[in-house]
Amino acid sequence: MHDEHRFLIDCGEGTQRQILKSGIGFKRLNRILITHGHLDHILGLAGLLSTFSRWEAIDELEILGGKWALDRIRDLIFGVVLRGPRPPMSVHLREIEPGVIFENEDISVSAFSVSHRGPDCYGYLFEEKGRRPFLTDQAEVLNIPPGPWRRELVSGNVVTLPDGRQVNPDQVLGPERPGTRLVHVGDAGQTDNLLESCKEADVLVIEATYLSNEAELAQKFAHLTASQAAQLALDAGVKHLILTHISRRYRERDVLAEAQSIFPNTQVARDFDDFQVKRGACVKVEPGSK
Ligand SMILES: [Zn+2]
Ligand SMILES: [Zn+2]
Repeated sequence: MHDEHRFLIDCGEGTQRQILKSGIGFKRLNRILITHGHLDHILGLAGLLSTFSRWEAIDELEILGGKWALDRIRDLIFGVVLRGPRPPMSVHLREIEPGVIFENEDISVSAFSVSHRGPDCYGYLFEEKGRRPFLTDQAEVLNIPPGPWRRELVSGNVVTLPDGRQVNPDQVLGPERPGTRLVHVGDAGQTDNLLESCKEADVLVIEATYLSNEAELAQKFAHLTASQAAQLALDAGVKHLILTHISRRYRERDVLAEAQSIFPNTQVARDFDDFQVKRGACVKVEPGSK
């Protein structure tokens, strides 16, 4: 979530039930980003859409993903769930390519290619736009009165002060500071091609289906081990790593121990976890603290 924007990334079986249980509600949940077309990432769309169409919580929904994923989703939802001459809600399937897929004045979301089984797999980068901080001390030195002039300067415009002097924004704005970056990678079979997209991310959310002792299986099914995910975080200079898609065969602490031996700042995400991401920081919000 960012301001009024909500993005659901993938929709595994039971997602609609977990959303209900979490209490976060369906309101404005009108944008779903799909990493790839495997069933464990899309099957939940059926339940979610049937709920939406009955409750009229949302009248328009956009599902974004690669062609392969959208082909399967089209069959799943239009062939069964919304079948009929007049679907109760409009669903738009938007085929994406690498690049910016959503943008407003303060954030952008970009898709990038991920190697996994099957074509058109994507990861997503959520990025806050960089800002140049307003140097208050400098403004005092230049005797810039409070009010609209400062706002204009922050927006990057040259202003003329009441006394006739012209001030250039460069005189009162510091060097650009990058905005918060959150990267989400679904299933992935290799990490070398993810380095660039993950670079300096404040948080990287990524799968870790296997442990190193089953690295061969990981490779066979194009999944990552906890070590590979941690190594990527380290190489990319990520600040915080969150592991997901953990196999039920493993104990969470073993996954954590393997990853933390390479990248200490790692957590394993569980259902209903709530993380708040800020520049350079990722805080787990404890239930009841809001
Ligand atoms: Zn998969
Ligand atoms: Zn999967």
